[in-house]
Amino acid sequence: MLTCLVNGHVYAPGGVIENGALVVEDQVIRQVGPRDAVSIPPGARVLDARGTRVVPGFIDMHIHGVMGADAMKGQALVMAQALPRFGVTGFLPTTVAAPSDELHGALRQIAQAKNSSLQGAAILGIHMEGPYLSVRHPGAMEAKYFRPFDWVEFQGFVAASENNVRMMTLAPEVPPALDYLPRLVAMGIVPSIGHSHATFAQVQAAVKAGLRNASHVYNAMRPFHHREAGTVGAVLFSDDITAELIADGVHVDATAMKLLLRVKGAGRIALVSDGLPVAGLPVGEYRWAGESVFNDGKVAKLPGDRLAGSVTMLDGGLRHLVELAGVPFPEALACASSVPARVLGLNTGSLEAGKDADVVVLNERFGVLLTMAKGQVVFEA
Ligand SMILES: [Zn+2]
Repeated sequence: MLTCLVNGHVYAPGGVIENGALVVEDQVIRQVGPRDAVSIPPGARVLDARGTRVVPGFIDMHIHGVMGADAMKGQALVMAQALPRFGVTGFLPTTVAAPSDELHGALRQIAQAKNSSLQGAAILGIHMEGPYLSVRHPGAMEAKYFRPFDWVEFQGFVAASENNVRMMTLAPEVPPALDYLPRLVAMGIVPSIGHSHATFAQVQAAVKAGLRNASHVYNAMRPFHHREAGTVGAVLFSDDITAELIADGVHVDATAMKLLLRVKGAGRIALVSDGLPVAGLPVGEYRWAGESVFNDGKVAKLPGDRLAGSVTMLDGGLRHLVELAGVPFPEALACASSVPARVLGLNTGSLEAGKDADVVVLNERFGVLLTMAKGQVVFEA
């Protein structure tokens, strides 16, 4: 099947192509260029994108749920169908710290969802957030389920997931996690520091062992101190670490976002939603992970005003990066597409010939008009 998107502002790696055209055949981008330089094959379905911005599909590496669907309840297929309306073309359903049998069930169900090929955003694998985390920084998770890294238990998780674990958030300073980082890397799993009380030196040691990512930078990690730069200082400082950022404007304020951008640059920042199942639902009170969660439309909160997670999807995060943090649009786009694609080693994340045809059409207000995942239109406003 052939599809062409014509007349839009196409955000290609070399810059914006005004009045551009994009030719998609089967699942792949075949041509990108100015409208008059691209030959539209006969019989192609032509979509007019006049006055819009044609951008790469968004990849969410950290999302627990959306529109009532919960990764822990195995509802990854529902997530896959809900996410294209937010411009997301691929994601890692993300588990939380829980008893072993509960995690086994969730991992098995996500693997099944990944195997059944329905239309929607691609399930790219699984992000396990915990359970090998530091009780010093539980965030919204239940610390009673945190435990030291257990290689035998972990192999059981990987087996239950049918080898689909792609990312693992852990606290490398809690023994024996550090010793196992090279094995994770060898298995194709990206180790990510999070819910961690690691010192600057401990993070540096973890980078030597293969650490390459940080889960929701600033949130649930040892903060910066001028005599002990902590986990935050090390994540800001190390070019080897890509930092996930929740850009809902609440988890991290505008100044902290600007500082992060200035120190690391957009090329080392991956926008994530950390979305909860209540994301996308009306304002109100819900139950999640055994607690009551209030979605006020901006953020989800636990009793006592604790942040539970975000309700802002990547389209909203992109807008916040531009409007709150002053990031130029093409750089903000990279945080939502090419950076997570690089972290996960995917052949997508930019609009160029040969890449997977994951494409989003946005209006000037960051509203999603059309989403194409692997060449298929999966959402149209
Ligand atoms: Zn977290």
